[in-house]
Amino acid sequence: MTNPLERTKPVARRITLHAGVPDAGLREVILARARALGLLGWVRAEADGTVLIHAEGEPGAVDGLLAFLREGPPVAAGAGRVEERTTAVEGHEQFAVRGVPAGVFVVQEHAATARHFDLRLEVGGAMRSWAVPKGPSLDPTVRRLAVEVEEHDMGHNAFEGRTAGGGVLVWDRGAYEQGGRVPWPEALDRGHAVFVLHGEKLQGGFVLQRTRGTGVKAQWLLLKRRDDRARPGSDVVRDHPRSVVSGVTLDELLSG
Ligand code: MN
Repeated sequence: MTNPLERTKPVARRITLHAGVPDAGLREVILARARALGLLGWVRAEADGTVLIHAEGEPGAVDGLLAFLREGPPVAAGAGRVEERTTAVEGHEQFAVRGVPAGVFVVQEHAATARHFDLRLEVGGAMRSWAVPKGPSLDPTVRRLAVEVEEHDMGHNAFEGRTAGGGVLVWDRGAYEQGGRVPWPEALDRGHAVFVLHGEKLQGGFVLQRTRGTGVKAQWLLLKRRDDRARPGSDVVRDHPRSVVSGVTLDELLSG
């Protein structure tokens, strides 16, 4: 016998809820309902008070979420206006809240045997780290080699100064969000991690794609995603060399 569920193709809808006021409680209610319905995708509260939802799964489940939103979820002040359109099924493996920090990140420029940049992402209370010889780029056509290195303590994030063999400068820092279809940080373990940076220099979506090896010394590529923060043709390392903490360049720090 054929299971009728196996013949039901998943569908996807992009839904905008004009709820009036941004409300983290509303986001949580939508998250709970979507998960209860077995839906995949994400919910994001925008600064203008709208809530954006990507929902994919069984057609009946997607309709169930739409009906729930049209009735007006309990915490919303009355029913909001709901807009929806069909979109592509993206293959999400979770229903997640977007726009919520996964932790902090820092990029430190490091003069050692060779100059390089260290990208560090907070994962499980430590800073997972990659040495990026040429540094990050906001140009989505640029692929930068990123060699995984030992995790660092979070206490090292604010370090800037001279070291025995050179020096370290805090080139950028801020919060980051998970951005992909796979739960974070499992995405890193699987070797394809999408994340969104909220730094002073680096903003928007980035991808770390593992190409060779595992663990420390694994080779990855760091890429900027094509989004409204991408800057084709730019060279952020050349144009913005100064520390976000002290305003000095690494040369100034080393000669100071
Ligand atoms: Mn280093």
